[in-house]
Amino acid sequence: MYKNLPNICYECGSTLDKESLTKEHVPPKSFFPKSDRDSLITVPACVKHNGGKSDDDEYFFQIICMQIQANEKGQDIATNKAVRGVLRNRKITKGLASNATQVYIDEDRTGQLKPTFAFKFDDEKLDNSISSICKALYYYEFHKVFIGDIKTYYEFQISLDEDSIKQNQEFEKIRHLINKNFSNIEKKGKNQDVFYYQVMEIPKGLEFSLAIRLCFYGGVGIVALLKKEPKFKFNAFMSALIKM
Ligand SMILES: [Zn+2]
Repeated sequence: MYKNLPNICYECGSTLDKESLTKEHVPPKSFFPKSDRDSLITVPACVKHNGGKSDDDEYFFQIICMQIQANEKGQDIATNKAVRGVLRNRKITKGLASNATQVYIDEDRTGQLKPTFAFKFDDEKLDNSISSICKALYYYEFHKVFIGDIKTYYEFQISLDEDSIKQNQEFEKIRHLINKNFSNIEKKGKNQDVFYYQVMEIPKGLEFSLAIRLCFYGGVGIVALLKKEPKFKFNAFMSALIKM
């Protein structure tokens, strides 16, 4: 799915010609099983920003497809690809395994607890990967390069700290609020069992101007809040100079 977008890199804004233009898949193509690669979203990217953070993307992929909320597509691709990826990248596996804690989760909300594992994850790596996806989607939606801050919220996080009960109730509340607020917003993307996204404009006066919700494998949700950099006010700068 390639819209007629301006030929500039979605990430750095550099102008691209026939030779330097590449198409970046959003999210990366490898997240989609071979049977679900119809009309994937692409944006123009310079060579540097096409697949430039593939290590972080692989880490991100492994984290999301092993979530308990992932549907069969996620779990299948997880067992096929992630296992291969893990074998290839033993550093990630070692890191994850040393962080694993057994937890019990009421997955079907029947009161019956099932054992599973919780992992501590590397926020910075995930944030890198998600920021790129959000910038690309922003470009795809608004045909402009996003300049500003992106904050991410992982809907699947749980706390294992001492006051975890309180903290997890808080997470549950936030999950509920996210579901409520996004329930009427259009889900975009062609292969929605694998990935879709929702864009919500945030009313003026709040710290952020836009929220993008990403949903992978039917239930692994991430909300990104985008805050545009305030426009440089030349007049304010001039009057400051005069006063100096
Ligand atoms: Zn670039």
